Amino acid sequence: MTAERVTREDFDEVMIPTYNPAPVIPVRGEGSRLWDQEGRDYVDLAGGIAVNCLGHAHPRLVAALERQGRKLWHLSNVFTNEPALGLAQRLCRLTFADKVFFANSGAEANEAALKLARRYAWKHFGPDKHEIVAFDGAFHGRTLFTVSVGGQAKYTQGFEPLPPGIRHVPFNDIGALETVISNKTCAVIMEPLQGEGGIIPAAPEFARAARSLCKRHDALLIFDEVQTGVGRTGDLYAYMGLGVTPDVLTTAKALGGGFPIGAMLTRAEIADSLSVGSHGTTYGGNPLACAVAGEVLDIVGDPTVLGGVEARHQRLVAGLEGIRERTGVFEEIRGLGLLLGAALKDAWKGRAREFLRAGLDEGVMVLVAGPDVVRLAPSLIIPEADMDDGLARLERAVNRARSR
Ligand code: PLP
Repeated sequence: MTAERVTREDFDEVMIPTYNPAPVIPVRGEGSRLWDQEGRDYVDLAGGIAVNCLGHAHPRLVAALERQGRKLWHLSNVFTNEPALGLAQRLCRLTFADKVFFANSGAEANEAALKLARRYAWKHFGPDKHEIVAFDGAFHGRTLFTVSVGGQAKYTQGFEPLPPGIRHVPFNDIGALETVISNKTCAVIMEPLQGEGGIIPAAPEFARAARSLCKRHDALLIFDEVQTGVGRTGDLYAYMGLGVTPDVLTTAKALGGGFPIGAMLTRAEIADSLSVGSHGTTYGGNPLACAVAGEVLDIVGDPTVLGGVEARHQRLVAGLEGIRERTGVFEEIRGLGLLLGAALKDAWKGRAREFLRAGLDEGVMVLVAGPDVVRLAPSLIIPEADMDDGLARLERAVNRARSR
């Protein structure tokens, strides 16, 4: 490491320009507060895009990482390890699943789920049953398979040819799903609440219809819970609140609370179609990641944490409704638990990023969900005082953006 101080300008010098990060560089975080290189503080209502479910530097996560860091960092899949087995047991105990595959990210968990669906259908029904049905607006990651399954053309442009056998229909449209699903369908993949697509919850009747159509056509129902999982919606996984159980579930983001990890969960008879050597990844089940994720699940699984999500939801929604009434820029406040969207009125459509930038000027971090929605995904344990301060700063930011 050089002793020289790095700046935002260095990003443009040395990083491949897949991102255009904010002008400030955060250097330290504690709970739901962050500080940048200049010592300015921010209230974090963004949560690292639904990752920092327990805020920054949670003492129990720091302790779990330190404990494991002194024991064992990596083994490879030539060996299994204790944290991975413990985490898999917890995930199976807490969900519908019997079996787990560990990966490093949401995209990789989805890649595994899509490959599993193809393989399961190939094994049980033959190669014709290979179609994947997905939804407009969906986001499933950035590998070539997952961008192709995702329903946003901007992410596939220029990366063609794309993998074949993928069909898209509008989200929450039962008729459209009925039209496209057939005995050639191996899987339907959906987010229980579309996150990147604009904070759009699946209608319960739509999720139920997807469930029964999959059953009728021997297709697997995959729930991508990368953004909704680990308490974000107020249930440990959103499928629990929807009352619709998938065949395969993917989880990442908040599972590691900031440490990279992803997982695919399924039932034993489906998992059986993957055999030794049919899929894998060097870091899947990494002891450091699994030790931290085990601690995350222990904390989030505590009824006081999950139970606290609803109260925080109410407080934030009430605050956002107030901002909506006083400023007139938001059409609607929507979402579940602590995954909230403030949809912009027609006059402001396409300008969500301006609110994110104004937020930084006022010391609050928020997100966008597409061009028309300001999104909040704070820590599940954000203190009341930070919520209130964050909302006050957000209102100042909205007024700042309006007067620009
Ligand atoms: N699936 C959903 C629903 C997501 O929101 C995301 C990321 O935003 C992904 C998959 C991709 O996860 P990752 O960026 O960890 O690959």
